[in-house]
Amino acid sequence: MSDATAATAAGIARRVNAREVSAVDVAREHLDRIARLEPQIDAFLHVTAERALARARAVDEAIAAGKPAGRLAGVPVAIKDLLDLEGVPTTCGSRVLEGYRPPFTATVVERLEAAGAIVVGKTNMDEFAMGSSNENSAYKPTRNPWDLTRVPGGSSGGSAAAVAAGMAALSLGSDTGGSIRQPAALCGVVGLKPTYGRVSRYGLVAFASSLDQVGPFTRTVEDSALAAAVLFGRDERDATSADREVPDFPAALTGDAKGLRIGVPWSFLEKGVDAPVLASFREALTTLESAGAQVVDVQLPHAGHAIATYYIVATAEASSNLARYDGVRYGLRVDAGRDLRETYGRTRDRGFGPEVKRRIILGTFVLSSGYYDAYYRRAQKVRTLIRQDFERALGACDVVATPTTPSAAFRFGEKTADPLAMYLADIFTVPANLAGIPGLSVPCGFGDGLPVGLQLLGRAFDEAALFRAGHAYQKLTRHHLQAPPLR
Ligand code: GLN
Repeated sequence: MSDATAATAAGIARRVNAREVSAVDVAREHLDRIARLEPQIDAFLHVTAERALARARAVDEAIAAGKPAGRLAGVPVAIKDLLDLEGVPTTCGSRVLEGYRPPFTATVVERLEAAGAIVVGKTNMDEFAMGSSNENSAYKPTRNPWDLTRVPGGSSGGSAAAVAAGMAALSLGSDTGGSIRQPAALCGVVGLKPTYGRVSRYGLVAFASSLDQVGPFTRTVEDSALAAAVLFGRDERDATSADREVPDFPAALTGDAKGLRIGVPWSFLEKGVDAPVLASFREALTTLESAGAQVVDVQLPHAGHAIATYYIVATAEASSNLARYDGVRYGLRVDAGRDLRETYGRTRDRGFGPEVKRRIILGTFVLSSGYYDAYYRRAQKVRTLIRQDFERALGACDVVATPTTPSAAFRFGEKTADPLAMYLADIFTVPANLAGIPGLSVPCGFGDGLPVGLQLLGRAFDEAALFRAGHAYQKLTRHHLQAPPLR
């Protein structure tokens, strides 16, 4: 990587604001790197090169005129292709949205740009954010920069791979059951799922509205804290966004974890974690102890039911959210010529891939009158029990730690024939979405040359504790400074 493409977001913004480097040069270097590496990685669905250079020029002009250019001045960012940017296609990784150009911009993208960030493109993803490998993208699979024969994780695999490969210093993903944390772990970058309600969902294509949150991928925890400070906060256009104070997260980083109590739910982890992942996790706990943290045992008695609960709640909400893709209002239309019903049917048949169809059918089933009580209502009750588990655990500690995933990046095709095996990739990430609490994945080592992630979970609205622990950890380790072996 060149100086610019290996730099952190904080470092780029500092140098651009100080006029040590121009935003245009930083944008060019990243666009060149995208052009060179895309044939191997396929992280992007659209590259917005011209727009990026024009925005970078505007940032340079503002700085030359002595105007404040923002905390992310000149930082190249990549956006998961389910977040809208006016006039630029949003496909959501689906054929059904082919040709759709949104007439508005997502609040999170607006906030990044208002802070001076430069959007370089829209990234690949599993269709409608349903998947853990990027193999469900209707367009192409993204490859893991650490090993091109392996998946980058999903569903925000394009955003994770873009940051890992130095094609952007920061990217946005969405996390409904792990789609930020899991690919962050598999690609060796930092991924944050904020507390439910922290971040506006305006301009985010909905998958499961009670679980979806937008969050950043970065190479350092410090950059994650910086992105959070820019992205978080109430938005009048999303009624579920919380009116809570947003601390200056980067300024609050201490570099140590003194007095922090870290709870480990060992009995939940017995579910089967690969040996190299477990070894890295144990070592990470020791490192956190040497940063001043105290490690204690906690229980999450209902977390083992999280995957089953998630696949009822999430599919129910998806079946309702995806009803709007009927060939009339957005993107693809397959005209049947007979009547409206047939147009709907043919559009949806052609427009949706097999996993999306499976989820719509499952979601419709669990909501149907004869099965509602047995599935949907019961799942809501279990969801409450899982939330209460965390309330109890996080009463006895400040942060809960687990491995982010049970294994490192798997090979293409390894889990495609068995949806259940694929779903289990999210066993440690899904509980936080059901509970609504924040989660951070931090690179914590390698197993057979593949990155492994440490997951830190916190109390609702206490992302500060996660940043504090994660930053203290990165001060003592060098895993996040490793770059994938790309040519
Ligand atoms: N992999 C999980 C799923 O397929 C989570 C997806 C997500 O967080 N968007 O639903």
